Amino acid sequence: MVSFEEARNVILSSVSAVGAEHIHLLDAAGRILAEDMAAPWDMPLWDNSAMDGYAVNSADCATVPCKLRVSAFLPAGARAEDVRVEQGCAVRIMTGAPTPEGCNAVVPVEETDNGDHEVILREPVRRGQHIRIRGEDVAAGATFARAGAIIRPPEANMLASLGMALVPVYRRPTVAILSTGDELVELGITPGPGEIVNSNALSLATAVRETGAMPLIIGIARDTRASHLEKLQEGLKADVLITSAGISAGDRDLVREALEELGVRLLFWQVGIKPGGPTAFALHGTTPVFSLPGNPVSTMITFEEFVRPALLKMQGHHRVLRPLFKAVLREELRKKPGKVQIVRIRLEREDGRWYAASAGDQRTSITRTMVDAEAVAVLPAGSTCFTAGDEVDAHFYGNHIDLLEATP
Ligand code: AMP
Ligand code: MG
Repeated sequence: MVSFEEARNVILSSVSAVGAEHIHLLDAAGRILAEDMAAPWDMPLWDNSAMDGYAVNSADCATVPCKLRVSAFLPAGARAEDVRVEQGCAVRIMTGAPTPEGCNAVVPVEETDNGDHEVILREPVRRGQHIRIRGEDVAAGATFARAGAIIRPPEANMLASLGMALVPVYRRPTVAILSTGDELVELGITPGPGEIVNSNALSLATAVRETGAMPLIIGIARDTRASHLEKLQEGLKADVLITSAGISAGDRDLVREALEELGVRLLFWQVGIKPGGPTAFALHGTTPVFSLPGNPVSTMITFEEFVRPALLKMQGHHRVLRPLFKAVLREELRKKPGKVQIVRIRLEREDGRWYAASAGDQRTSITRTMVDAEAVAVLPAGSTCFTAGDEVDAHFYGNHIDLLEATP
């Protein structure tokens, strides 16, 4: 058995980013930049006005109030090449318009009488005021976004401003999802006696998609060696293979043997985590294979703790573990020593601290508590008992935590 931390280290040191592709910026929301991006030109491209007002030479308005002749008008989009601020003159200018030669300050319209042919300036004028300087946002050649950056609205804005319609992003890895077991029927079929719906395929596909990777549900391997070999081979064509069930010690648990027969290198097959102890990780060449336990709660938790970080790393993310925060327990929590325990919790914010209550029945057979959980507490392997008021490490569960409703 490897520890929780060892398991993560083995996994994360075994996977690396998949290749890159160029896609249109419009389709790039949430994708990860695969290269450092350098500005092809200065941003802004020319000195321009930060206000609607008058472009002036500050030397002409050393004492205020003063009166200047309005010699030209520069709306946004106008070209300034033929315009000059002559001595004793001002040029009416709109926000974003290029500042003309001879101008070293812009006076906001609110500080004037808003005159058309002549203008009276009432406030002192500071050299350089209200002028945006060429390249002050990003200079040509400077890096403005790094490989690993997520394309959010600000990244999209800068990429667009700098003319980059096609952007290099990491490819989405394909993730084959294979369920195993004679008791399973596919979604859409009403289960008969002894049967259950292959629900793990759907929770795994949802979880895979939340990471940005592409799930491929490849069906069910029946509890025979031949069926396992056939389906595993199919799954190994993807960038990643995830199997569920058939990995503990039952006499129908065929996954491990079948994987070994296919020449995978098994790196571990038992982890010090509860729920989710019978979790295996293997490499087939460089293709990672995760064999997760079949119990739906265990499948979801081991995906969250072990598979999600790997899929994020493969897509070029740098920060692949959810940040831990401290939560104060509302109630006592007991566990056996030796394994990290993952506890499903609800959270409340009070006086600047997070308070955690159990989301309900923590047995792995109870899936509903997983639905109710906003977060999980991560209790260290060495610990045995936490009392109400103790602080524990916790992390959010799921991508939509800021949209969940408050505790009912
Ligand atoms: P096993 O590891 O094959 O003994 O399976 C452990 C438990 O998980 C059993 O109760 C199975 O019925 C259940 N299980 C296995 N595969 C799935 C699946 N694809 N969807 C939902 N439950 C499953
Ligand atoms: Mg089974």
